[in-house]
Parts: sequence; structure tokens; C-alpha cells
Amino acid sequence: MTYHTPVLLEEVVTQLQPRRGGLYVDCTVGGGGHAREILYACGPDGQLIGLDWDEEAIAASRERLSEFGGRIQLVRANYVELERVLMSLGITAVDGVAFDLGVSSRQFDEPGRGFSFQREGPLDMRMNRQLGATARDVLRTASLEELAKIFRVYGEEKRARAVARQIVEERQRKPLETTTQLARLVETVLGRRHGGVHSATRVFQGLRIAVNNELDNLKRGLEVAGRFLKSGGRLAVISFHSLEDRIVKQFLVEQSSGCICPPDLPACVCGRRQSLRIVTRKPVTPREEEVRANPRARSAKLRVAEKV
Ligand code: SAH
Repeated sequence: MTYHTPVLLEEVVTQLQPRRGGLYVDCTVGGGGHAREILYACGPDGQLIGLDWDEEAIAASRERLSEFGGRIQLVRANYVELERVLMSLGITAVDGVAFDLGVSSRQFDEPGRGFSFQREGPLDMRMNRQLGATARDVLRTASLEELAKIFRVYGEEKRARAVARQIVEERQRKPLETTTQLARLVETVLGRRHGGVHSATRVFQGLRIAVNNELDNLKRGLEVAGRFLKSGGRLAVISFHSLEDRIVKQFLVEQSSGCICPPDLPACVCGRRQSLRIVTRKPVTPREEEVRANPRARSAKLRVAEKV
């Protein structure tokens, strides 16, 4: 079974413009699909540092990328710790950084990890199994308000409160332990289909984002990656839903605008300087053939910027 089919593979490699002997970082190395092509493209002596906070991903890419020997370093870490990782390797600047957000197909399809409402499994949802709280813990301890916020803000579910209320009521009788138990509960509140997708889709998305602190990580990760890019180096980010894409877009807009002082001020007081130039005015999306071959690519959006 393939670990994960890389999304927008050609597009990412084209946009990163890897050069011979360059040094690249893949912040979400997963099964190593993107990393492998980047390594080929910067061969025969370019290097790549791959991060992932899931030890199974590190093990899988270690095997998959073994042919590259000393050209690759794999580190189990949250990408918000990129600065510490690079410092420990004695690196001060890199030629390109890639992010491919969200969960891998392996993580998603493995029932034991609890990401999919279509597979019976424990309500875990931690991408990094050393993280503290699981989805089950969140469902057990969060207040009605907190749960409603998770489903509304992270899940973009309009009827978040009704779902939260049902959870709080049911958990007094019996704790929520499994994915299918939660999916059934959501169905009783929202019906089987809701807003064009299965009613549990948004609730599961919200929980997953909360458990893994995904949006906060993304904001911090982008900021560090931007700082470590050499001038002319590129940042490529693939997002899979609108909350992620909004954060990426906002970051790029912020970093690509210089001084924001009103024009009538005699001198700049904001101190802002442009650090990135946006390469993709509009996000790059997968071609039809790719979506046909890999339906999970459907919502992917790639945004690219270059350090000035
Ligand atoms: N590009 C990869 C697939 C990446 S899937 C390939 O071609 O195979 C996304 C990966 O990002 C998952 O393995 C997940 O564990 C990892 N990930 C998500 N958030 C992370 C974070 N904050 N720090 C490190 N890795 C993260």
C-alpha cells in the first residue's frame, strides 16, 4: 500500500526551482514523496532536511529516501521548532522550504488513529502521538462553549452549538470513545448529510484542528521559514481547506507589503519592510487528471513566494 500520494508534485518542484547543490527543507516530509523529487532536482549534491512530528512518517521516509544517503537528514519535530532544528545542524539559511499541510493518507486511513468517521477506531486524532490530549480527552473535558467554538471556528459548522449540546448531554451517560459513536451522534443532530457533505465531516475537521493546534502551528511555522530563506529562496505551501489557505494568504500579503504608514507622514514610523515577493497571484490548483487519479487532491491550493 502506498503511504501517501504526493499532491501537486510537479508544481511544487517547478515552483521551488531547486538548484544543484542547494539546501532545502521539507517541513512536512510525510512519506517523502515531495522530498524525493526535490532531492532529484537538486542532485547530485543538493541536500534536504525533512521534518515530521509523527514518528511513523519519519520511519517511512527514512526507508523511502535511503538511496540519498548523506544528502538527507530526517528529524522528528514540530515544524514550529524549525529554528532549533536548523541551529542544531549549524544551518543559518536555506534555499527553499516546502509545507504540505494536514494529515497524510496513511494517518487518515489507519483506523487506530481515529481521523476518519468512516472507520471504527478510538477518538485519538493526534498526528504526533506524544502530544497530550486526544480527541476523546477534548470531548470529555471541554465545556459546551469550547466545543461549540471548536466546531464553529475550526469546523466551520453552522449548527455547532446543537452538536456541542448533544455531546455534553450524552457524555454524562456514557463517554464517547470511538469515531463511529461520534459520527452517529452528529447524524442524530444534523441528519446524515448536511451542507453537501456527510454531517460528521466538519465536526471531525474541527476536532482534528483543535487536537493538533494546527492553525497556530501554521502561523508560527511560516514565520520561522520566512526568516531562514536566503534571498531568492522560495517558500511553497499546499493547503487543503479555507482556514489554512487564509492564513497562508494573509502571511504572504503581510510579508510582501513594505511600509504601511500614511503617505502624508514625513518619515516611516511602522518600520515594516518587504521580505517576500508573491509568485502566485492566484493559488495553483491540481489539474483535472490529478484530481481524477487522486480525489484527495481536490481541495489543494499551492501558494509560493520568493525572499527579496
Ligand atoms: N508531502 C508528503 C505528505 C505530507 S502529509 C509526501 O509527499 O509524502 C502531512 C504531514 O505533515 C503528515 O505526515 C503530518 O504528520 C505532518 N505534520 C502536520 N503538522 C505538522 C507539524 N506541525 N510539524 C511537523 N509535521 C507536521
